[in-house]
Amino acid sequence: MRLLSSAVSAASAVALLAACNAANAEDEAIASAETAQPMPETLAAPTAAAVQTPQIIGLQGELTQGGFVRGTVPMNTVSARLGDTPLEIDENGNFFAAFDRDEGAQVFLHTVMADGGQVSTPVTVSPRSWQIERVNVAKRGGGTSEAWWKKREPEWNAIQGARAKETGANGWTQDFVWPVTGRISGRFGRQRIYRGEPGSYHSGIDIAPGNGVPFVAPADGVVVLARNGFSLEGNLIIIDHGAGLNSAFLHASRIVVEEGQSVKQGQHIGDVGASGRATGPHLHWSLKWHDARLDPLLFTGPMP
Ligand SMILES: [Zn+2]
Repeated sequence: MRLLSSAVSAASAVALLAACNAANAEDEAIASAETAQPMPETLAAPTAAAVQTPQIIGLQGELTQGGFVRGTVPMNTVSARLGDTPLEIDENGNFFAAFDRDEGAQVFLHTVMADGGQVSTPVTVSPRSWQIERVNVAKRGGGTSEAWWKKREPEWNAIQGARAKETGANGWTQDFVWPVTGRISGRFGRQRIYRGEPGSYHSGIDIAPGNGVPFVAPADGVVVLARNGFSLEGNLIIIDHGAGLNSAFLHASRIVVEEGQSVKQGQHIGDVGASGRATGPHLHWSLKWHDARLDPLLFTGPMP
């Protein structure tokens, strides 16, 4: 599926790229500043200052492109961010962060302590080898006309507005389940290159269990969008899982939840269909953390 028109995706890809470059430049500046000072673990005899330097506890998750990390910040942490993205920290110091499909090899977790001290923890993000298909046809330029954008713009705004909503949901703490099982007809990250010109990559996972098969919420959350008739997405559900993490479910034949409704993991939210731009009935499930696009497969593990 294409969530964005080629024009819009090109524009947002440029914006994302610019944001990434800015973040990397800052990370490098911080990293080189830090190398001027000895790191606590490299000292033979820790100084009092080094002993007091708290560290992030228990980084766990899928430290790879399209993956995520959970951890706990030291007690006296007042704020934290991954690169430029601020992290939500719960009452126990737990946080969630994630890595875009095109994330660089290293990102920094920055924490600011109550005493003003700052700690930058490097996180190594392993690269993936995405499914790339080179085709000898020209890239289609469709979906860029003014008339098309006039219809598309309110849809686009509704999606952006929904994804920006913060509901305080805590699904981000859970192990995700598959919304439905069936043949996987499209993997996350797959990309076509049209005579050297990259198309936008596949932003979710496609599951094709058959038309009308019920699908469920993969984790707890709040429905921030549930509307029929989007030109590309068709009948669309977006669920906020909290901490900046949200799921979108496209092409439904039927939606059985309403905006504002809280849903539990495993709760029926809609039925698989082929509404919007779809060549056949399937569920397209995409996951985003802020601007980062994530691989749902890394959240669920292999299909049972
Ligand atoms: Zn898809």
